[in-house]
Amino acid sequence: MREYKVVVLGSGGVGKSALTVEFVSGNYVEKYDPTIEDFYRKAIEVENTMAILEILDTAGTEQFASMRDLYIRNGQGFLVVYSVTSKQSFGDVCVSRDQILRVKGSDQVPIVLVGNKADLEKERQVPSSEGMILAERWNVPFYETSAKSTQNVNEVFAECVVEIMRVLVPRRGKGSGCCHKCNIL
Ligand code: GDP
Ligand code: MG
Repeated sequence: MREYKVVVLGSGGVGKSALTVEFVSGNYVEKYDPTIEDFYRKAIEVENTMAILEILDTAGTEQFASMRDLYIRNGQGFLVVYSVTSKQSFGDVCVSRDQILRVKGSDQVPIVLVGNKADLEKERQVPSSEGMILAERWNVPFYETSAKSTQNVNEVFAECVVEIMRVLVPRRGKGSGCCHKCNIL
């Protein structure tokens, strides 16, 4: 089974851990230690094949920028998460994307833009249309999710695998075998 390395990025409190834990275990965690940064694994079916996801739920606690660069370099696909209840977190996703593109040295990186906490309609600060417009500008898929109601939780992880397949896998077959990009996989 092929393994896919997914990194969950976004500012503190947007629900990265809640989304990851909901996806991996099916449980909604109300309180999750904000400093825990850990790997999780889960097998899912994507486009009729089984895939193993290795998910890094980041916590922004790394002491050195080089650490962050390292996990971005090791990641193949990225969930870039904001909370629809926080305009600031929506601004922060641009910083995350810039980091990813800089470290990868490419603008063809598998990214899914995720607006979480969609269940909190009354506290919404970021309209769906703004997420949509940004995703269009980045040319990436966009979903609003709720770790609480489970809305689109499985979908964003599956979509990230689809993006990895779409962006990275075709490159392997190009040319006569090896190129400097082969080690991405
Ligand atoms: P992280 O810092 O990005 O990992 O954020 P957490 O996963 O720790 O979530 C921060 C807070 O937001 C917690 O109190 C969660 O229960 C809450 N939260 C996370 N996702 C959702 C969601 O989809 N809906 C609601 N209502 N609350 C959420
Ligand atoms: Mg967390």
